[in-house]
Amino acid sequence: MTTTFVQNQAFFKYLTAFLTGQLLLPDDAAYERVRHLWNRKVKTQPAAIVRCLTVQDVIHTVRWTRAQGLPLSVRGGGHDFAGRALVENGVVIDLSQMRAVTIDPDARSAHVQGGATAGDLMEAAQEYGLATATGTVSSVGMAGFTLGGGYSPLIGAYGLGADNLLSAQVVTADGQLVTANAQEHADLLWGLRGGGGNFGAVVSLEYRLHPLTTVLSGLLLYPLEQAKTVLHRFNEFIATAPDELTIPSGFLQMPDGLPGLFLSPTYCGSLEAGEQAIAPLRTFGDLLVDRVQPVTYDALIHGQDALTPKGRHYYIQTRSLKGLQTETIKVLLEQGLPLPSPFSLIQVHNFHGAASRVGVSETAFALRQDHLMVEAIAAWDPQSPVEEQRHIEWAQNLSYALAPYAFKGGYINLLDEKEQERVPLAFGSNYEQLLDLKRTYDPDDVFRSTIGHFTS
Ligand SMILES: Cc1cc2nc3c(=O)[nH]c(=O)nc-3n(C[C@H](O)[C@H](O)[C@H](O)COP(=O)(O)OP(=O)(O)OC[C@H]3O[C@@H](n4cnc5c(N)ncnc54)[C@H](O)[C@@H]3O)c2cc1C
Repeated sequence: MTTTFVQNQAFFKYLTAFLTGQLLLPDDAAYERVRHLWNRKVKTQPAAIVRCLTVQDVIHTVRWTRAQGLPLSVRGGGHDFAGRALVENGVVIDLSQMRAVTIDPDARSAHVQGGATAGDLMEAAQEYGLATATGTVSSVGMAGFTLGGGYSPLIGAYGLGADNLLSAQVVTADGQLVTANAQEHADLLWGLRGGGGNFGAVVSLEYRLHPLTTVLSGLLLYPLEQAKTVLHRFNEFIATAPDELTIPSGFLQMPDGLPGLFLSPTYCGSLEAGEQAIAPLRTFGDLLVDRVQPVTYDALIHGQDALTPKGRHYYIQTRSLKGLQTETIKVLLEQGLPLPSPFSLIQVHNFHGAASRVGVSETAFALRQDHLMVEAIAAWDPQSPVEEQRHIEWAQNLSYALAPYAFKGGYINLLDEKEQERVPLAFGSNYEQLLDLKRTYDPDDVFRSTIGHFTS
């Protein structure tokens, strides 16, 4: 849709007549507040936002929007850096009020609605001493996280978020409600496990839960002068680390303005075994900070919320590396530092264990070997365009410099709109099957989480 269409109540009369939820148009007082995503840098102006309350609202909105020939998008937790939850001049199916969670403690499973966040799920699951693979921040939507794959501090023991997805209910492009599980529409479930939000609006997801309350987790901070040694030892260490131990790492700005190297281990087995497993990390260098301690998993994922507040401007570039060698450590230190702002950071996810043992063709998520996913996250308060450019270039330069050492594809959840050529490479040998799936469930390319990559 290239032209702006009539944005008045009369145009939307038939849509609102059958809605339980609320329709917001640009003139409505609440529109601007609801339109704002986590990343305030996103400026997309939808023609309408439908705040769905029921599955019927979603079905009706999909059918109506398609009948009008308008573009649509789905908003879950609203945490996509690139802002793909919104569509310019189109209709947004906003699921952020559909966040109910139901736990079945006997089956060790959870049903969550399509707008539920990691925090919603964990708050409910921890009452039963259960947990699943979530991201590191509580406000991230479970649907967006899972559909793209889902790197977790629990990945070594439980796999990706997508590996824990047991079934889903999806409103497809023709407005039908479809259940995807091992028996019905198993092809669709395969695609939802890492293939992105390209096949419909996912109104509910069922997850496998694992017995877990307390983990051993926290921050180890080393001085920058020791970064080379620590990273070499870290690289050696993770090759044989137990599944229970997953170690995100990276660089952050310390209160004195200098960058520091961090390792942020999470151990999800017994606390005694965890202390033993983590002990070698404490010998890698002269620790400036040691905050590793027992913590509930729910508290862990709330711990980083304050570091990534809603409302700043953010930009991300990512590269997935086989490991850290002398050259890549050099690039991280020389191109990555200094960080462009006190809020910016380099974060490296540690993919291993259970996630690496899933076969490449078992789910849509294809990069099934041990790797490190490097995120260059630029964050700044809204400033002049020149400042913005400086932050964007920092992330891009680091990404370009790492590219020769990286896998060709990447993590689709964190690719930028200008990185379309990396999407087929990310899916590798699964790409053709995803194209087939797209032809089956969304031949007109209505749902475009990875921006029209499945249209060939
Ligand atoms: C602070 C922060 C921390 C993060 N931490 C991690 C992490 O630890 N591990 C990790 O792997 N990733 C992480 N991410 C990335 C995150 O997983 C992705 O950005 C994810 O897409 C966010 O999902 P969302 O539902 O919040 O976002 P949204 O912006 O709402 O959606 C993202 C995309 O998914 C689609 N989508 C969302 N919900 C649905 C649905 N119900 N049905 C169909 N399509 C849907 C949207 O249309 C959009 O294209 C993090 C992101 C942020 C901002």
